[in-house]
Amino acid sequence: LTTTDPIEPHKICVCVRKRPLNKQEINKKEIDVVSVPGRGALLVHEPKHKVDLTKYLENQVFHFDYSFDETATNELVYKFTAKPLVLSIFQGCMATCFAYGQTGSGKTHTMGGDFTGRQQNSAKGIYALAAQDVFTHLNNRKYANLDLCVYVSFFEIYNGKVFDLLNKKAKLRVLEDDRQQVQVVGLEEVCVSSAEDVIKIIQIGSACRTSGQTSANANSSRSHAVLQIVLRRSDRAATLHGKFSLVDLAGNERGTDVSSNDRSTLVETAEINRSLLALKECIRSLGRNSDHIPFRMSTLTKVLRDSFIGEKSRTCMIAMVSPGMASCEYTMNTLRYADRVKEL
Ligand code: ADP
Ligand code: MG
Repeated sequence: LTTTDPIEPHKICVCVRKRPLNKQEINKKEIDVVSVPGRGALLVHEPKHKVDLTKYLENQVFHFDYSFDETATNELVYKFTAKPLVLSIFQGCMATCFAYGQTGSGKTHTMGGDFTGRQQNSAKGIYALAAQDVFTHLNNRKYANLDLCVYVSFFEIYNGKVFDLLNKKAKLRVLEDDRQQVQVVGLEEVCVSSAEDVIKIIQIGSACRTSGQTSANANSSRSHAVLQIVLRRSDRAATLHGKFSLVDLAGNERGTDVSSNDRSTLVETAEINRSLLALKECIRSLGRNSDHIPFRMSTLTKVLRDSFIGEKSRTCMIAMVSPGMASCEYTMNTLRYADRVKEL
């Protein structure tokens, strides 16, 4: 993968990334059941047992546009997933990049990077890498005559409600006008002039996300976080030119978690399942060039409506998987979902 250049992005790109076993898993002698034999292929050695209870591993094979093994860096993943989409927004596209997978599989590590380590900047995520490239393109003569300005917004969707991460988690309304345009009313859109500006905003928003407060006292694994990088013409109306939405999705493990009968958890679970189902249906409709895009099915798909309609939509999904045998059931769920999203 390192030697070739990314291919022209098609409308939908679906990739998978496997994280390494972590220290606790290694200490527990957890078995790695996921392997990446090359290119887009990914193998899961799924534990099964026969009627006489003899255990055996059954190989399940999946194929994606790209598969990244545990040695892949954020930079490499970025290069083959979001990087081509950054260029597309300069060409007027509405692009989205989703991180999908169970809690702990590496969604936030991939999108937001790891700023928890001793060395700051030790692992930039897709947010920061995309921001850098936005400003590289902006300074390119090719796009100078477009006279573009860059804006950033950052919000969270929890239980179908939108909270502004750049404005103390203010609860915002989502409105659809008679021309089917969807608006998040009052969403803070910050004008930025450098990649460093964006990185600062991401840190502020991420800190806001994890600090529990008000009705959005949510564990971040149960909410979707959406970072939007918006290009506008510097005319009076600030006409929209292109938009890149980067989405750190809620953990998908809830669907199979029936251990809780706490009401609020059940409502939460139902909402996550509904939005992930809606997302799958919207991406599939986009792949089929269908006229009917069921974006009204959930708040997540409603606010991303622009990204699912028309010729100028580009989507990339990165499905994250944990390598351990204990996570196998979740891993299989993630891979089946990603498989369904692929362009037909
Ligand atoms: P999620 O957002 O899907 O719940 P995280 O991104 O928080 O998962 O990852 C869980 C833990 O695993 C974090 O400590 C993170 O640093 C680590 N991790 C995830 N992916 C990788 C990776 N590719 N390489 C090294 N560590 C990783
Ligand atoms: Mg996370």
